[in-house]
Amino acid sequence: MEGIKGKVAVVTGAAKGIGRAIALRLAKEGANIVINYRSDSESLKELVSEIESFGSKVVTARGDVSSFSDAKNIMEKAVDAFQTIDILVNNAGITRDGLMLRMKEEDFDRVIEVNLKGAFNCIRHVSPIMVKKRTGKIINISSVVGITGNAGQVNYSAAKAGIIGLTKSAARELASRKINVNAVAPGFINTSMTEILPQKTKENILNSIPLKRIGSPEDIANTVAFLASSNADYITGQVINIDGGMVM
Ligand code: NAD
Repeated sequence: MEGIKGKVAVVTGAAKGIGRAIALRLAKEGANIVINYRSDSESLKELVSEIESFGSKVVTARGDVSSFSDAKNIMEKAVDAFQTIDILVNNAGITRDGLMLRMKEEDFDRVIEVNLKGAFNCIRHVSPIMVKKRTGKIINISSVVGITGNAGQVNYSAAKAGIIGLTKSAARELASRKINVNAVAPGFINTSMTEILPQKTKENILNSIPLKRIGSPEDIANTVAFLASSNADYITGQVINIDGGMVM
């Protein structure tokens, strides 16, 4: 990929899963990485040394993206370490699934706060930096259920649909400053978010995937790296499904 080497990338919720794969992939392409994480974990140390083994610099920034002030602190930590931010990947996300008729108010609110407001908070604090430089790449992780809806996920699918509206509006606002804002919509990806699902549900999902395999975090990281690169300079306001053909 062109144009990633030497750039500074902030990846939210990057201690594991898709975020971890994205951080590693961008580091392999030569970016310096800011890993946002919410709670300490052993895997974080391994991730830091793996990134360093590629010759990239890395800093960790603890914070809850749903907090406006934490999001500000994350961006400030990145600027303190690397003077700038070129790439933001809004990856942090949670699920609190349940049928709507029984869903608790706090489960709806928390999923919106983390998945949707968290992305707004980070974009809000990174935009002034990118606007000043007149360049930047913002990639938001949505989901195919933000397009199709999904029983048991009114909170999550509303947040992920919201991410698509946020992406398109931010893309329109920031285009004149050569800042690209895009989203990717993963289908069913093998991470801790999906491993908790019942076996029967996993089988049903697998049967609905034309390419007949569950996606890997690296499948998502490949497209995110492309969107972060200068190869994607003429792409903005788009949503790219990465789902083995689940949604066409
Ligand atoms: P995961 O649970 O493995 O990782 C999510 C990460 O986000 C964790 O490291 C967690 O600590 C972090 N996080 C959660 N709340 C946070 C907060 N408030 N502040 C900062 N970090 C926080 O899940 P994953 O599957 O790797 O999910 C990554 C993204 O991909 C999420 O946005 C998720 O909604 C999206 N996604 C996943 C799938 C899938 O099938 N796994 C499908 C579509 C979309």
